[in-house]
Amino acid sequence: MNQQIKQPICDHVFYGLTRSLCPECKRVVDAQTLIRDGAVYLRKRCPEHGWHEALVSSDAEWYLNSLKYDKPGAMPLDFATSTDRGCPYDCGICPEHRQHTCLALIEITTRCNLACPTCFADSSLPLPGTSAPLRGTGASQVDTNPAARQRGFDLSLAQVEAITASVQIGRIYKGKVSSVKDFGAFIEILPGRDGRCHISELSNDYVGSVTDICNVGDEIEVKVIAVDEQDRIKLSRKAAEQELAGAASDGKE
Ligand code: SF4
Ligand SMILES: [Zn+2]
Repeated sequence: MNQQIKQPICDHVFYGLTRSLCPECKRVVDAQTLIRDGAVYLRKRCPEHGWHEALVSSDAEWYLNSLKYDKPGAMPLDFATSTDRGCPYDCGICPEHRQHTCLALIEITTRCNLACPTCFADSSLPLPGTSAPLRGTGASQVDTNPAARQRGFDLSLAQVEAITASVQIGRIYKGKVSSVKDFGAFIEILPGRDGRCHISELSNDYVGSVTDICNVGDEIEVKVIAVDEQDRIKLSRKAAEQELAGAASDGKE
């Protein structure tokens, strides 16, 4: 009888071999370039930390097509380090480097909190629901789990918006009380941006002590009533309360 043997099919196409770094210990290891489900991955094994896989491109067709546009590198005009231990340990740029600058990163804000999960400077913020941060130098370290990637994207977007948001006079913010003084409270309304709410601005009613209204860690709504020439922010809780109460009664009509 002619018995057919069913061979298991590999879930990827092997595209090539290259060198990469172990994301744990940064040692240079062999890496396989694989194409699977229309995406390109780098798969590598560190003798100490085992296998790791990193997404190189989510679109294999685009990736393969882009190779057509590779050109001989324009050699750097100057080198800052010597060839000693080999790539990438001599980085700086070393005389072995054969490539022009492909992607230059220019910092456009000084208000970075170094906590963005897709930070090129290797932030270490854990993603919600995961133990692993999205960290790394570009795509090679990006998590291959689509749900984790989406969470990372959403978190990044929210953080970039928060970091780049500017304080607007007249706007109501929900902030966290960062410190309490006799004369008022300081409230963080944006990451790293505290404003002061004077005791007279805490309530329409008489306030004997700031702590009658709020304590450190409380979340309260405050309105920005001024930003002075030294960039100090003045806040009013009573103005926020009045505006919110007015909006609520308008909504009922
Ligand atoms: S400068 Fe280029 S060749 Fe030299 S270590 Fe860095 S990446 Fe490698
Ligand atoms: Zn390792």
